[in-house]
Parts: sequence; structure tokens; C-alpha cells
Amino acid sequence: MAVWNLGSINIDHVYRLDNLPRPGETLAARQHGRGIGGKGANQSLAAAKAGARTHHLGAVGADAGWLLEGLRSSGIETDAIHILPDTPTGHAIIMVDDAAENAIVIEAGANRALEPGWLEGALTPMRAGDTLLIQNETNLQAMAARLGRAAGARVIYSAAPFQLDALQEVLPHVSILALNEGEAQQLFAAIPGDLPVEQLLITRGAQGVELRDLRKGQTLRQPAFAVQPVDTTGAGDCFAGYFAAALDRGDDAAQALRLASAAAAIQVTRHGAGDAMPLLAEVQAFLA
Ligand code: ATP
Repeated sequence: MAVWNLGSINIDHVYRLDNLPRPGETLAARQHGRGIGGKGANQSLAAAKAGARTHHLGAVGADAGWLLEGLRSSGIETDAIHILPDTPTGHAIIMVDDAAENAIVIEAGANRALEPGWLEGALTPMRAGDTLLIQNETNLQAMAARLGRAAGARVIYSAAPFQLDALQEVLPHVSILALNEGEAQQLFAAIPGDLPVEQLLITRGAQGVELRDLRKGQTLRQPAFAVQPVDTTGAGDCFAGYFAAALDRGDDAAQALRLASAAAAIQVTRHGAGDAMPLLAEVQAFLA
């Protein structure tokens, strides 16, 4: 089996500050670092570190050789990453304060310049039983979800950042809709009735996670593991990548929730997002 992930790849600029700036305020950062980011790349890093054969689908500009090398050295298959020479690689400005709170600005660049003909070719090798991950930081999510469903893949849609029109297009092709608490509130306000998905995953930070099976009317709950967080950036991506990898290797839903919760608990004790994804052996040692 394999995990296919259509997702963003960003150059992350991370600034550490005493507190986040208020409107009109200028603050000096204590520290600055550059790394691999984007919800897509973060989820691929988590899935690959969890041991899944992970194919990332996405696009970067001509300036991103170090990024692709970084993804490959973490075990991600990068053949389906399209290089668009005239489009800048996406980037993000991430500010993190002493209370581990963050504020983020994203410029999508190549992430939203994906072409349908390319996507169709890139997804051709996908097989029944594979897992397709999608988020909202690229274009072509609905097409990918439709192709994934037609191929017999499990389609997991992490609907972040929340965009109602994108979500409504993708939903009919989704197996598992993954949301954090804020996104879930926005969804229920916009669509109060039944959702056309099989399962709904809601992560609630330190309050844990629940997986609702909408067909069976059952809910599984997994409390968060008690840790001292230093930076929660990417916790949801760590969870999504690990959860996809766990289901892909045949774990049942309860096992997958537990493994992904432990991985995300380790991740929040470290600075960074993609760089902070733990290896499967570390997660297994944490759970032992
Ligand atoms: P982010 O936007 O910060 O990347 P998110 O809002 O998408 O994250 P959360 O719901 O905050 O996602 O967290 C995802 C999962 O990570 C939680 O369900 C939980 O398992 C784990 N997690 C997050 N915060 C903590 C914490 N403080 N302690 C332990 N586990 C945590």
C-alpha cells in the first residue's frame, strides 16, 4: 500500500518572539530559521517517518532544490513534484511566542498553479486500497479526490485552512474528513445537516481527538497524552500524516488514533513543524 499526498510545499521562515505583535507594533525576533513547511509537506514528512511509502504530489519553483533534497532524505518519493520554472515556491512567515502560540501568513506561489493534465498523470499509478491525503493549500483538490475515489483509494481530506466552497466540492469524494475544533465549528455553522462522508475526525488539541463513524453512528475517542508543549505548529499535520500511515498499513481506527496522538504529543514538545515530526521508533518507545 502507499500514501499519496496532494499538498503544499513551502519555504518556512520561523521567527521566535517574546509575544506576537499587535496591529501597528514592530518587534525584533530573538531567532530566525528557514525550513521545509506547508501543510502538505508536513503531512508527507509525518507519513514517511511513520513508515508509509509516501508519494508527494505538488509543485515548487526553480529555487527549491534544497527543499526536494530535504523531502527525499526523509524518505518521501518526489517524482510527482512538478517544477514550475516561472512560478515562485510557496512560502510562509511563522511567528511563535513564549506561550507556544503562533501566527502564520502564507503566500501560495506554485502550490496553487497545479495543472489538471499533470495531476491525472501523477495519480495514474495509485491503486485500490492506497490512501490519498488532501488539504486546502493547493488547487485541484476536488479532481484529486474524485480520481482517488474512482481508483478505490481511501480519501482523507484535512480541510485546512477552512474554505467552504473548496470543501463542498471535495466532500462527495471523501472517506474521512479531518478538522480541528475551529474548523469543525465553521463547518457545523455552514452545513448543519448530514455530511456526505463516511467518517469525521475532529482533533481538539490537548483535549484529544474523536472519530465519528457517520454510517454506524459510533464515536471513538482518544485523549491527548500529557506533555509540556513548546510549539504546537504542525500538530494537526503530524496527526494527519501518522493517522493516514497507520490506516494504510492496516491498523484499525483505535490503533491509528492512539499512534497519531502519541506522535503529535511528541511533536508539540519540539520546536518547528516538519522538522519536528518524530520517527516511528520514537513513537513506539513513547507508547511502550
Ligand atoms: P496546528 O494548527 O497547530 O498544526 P491543529 O489545530 O490542526 O494544529 P490540534 O487539534 O491542535 O490540531 O492537534 C492535533 C492533535 O495533536 C490533537 O488531537 C492531539 O492528539 C495532539 N496535540 C495537540 N496539542 C497537544 C498538547 N498540548 N498536548 C498533547 N497532545 C496535543
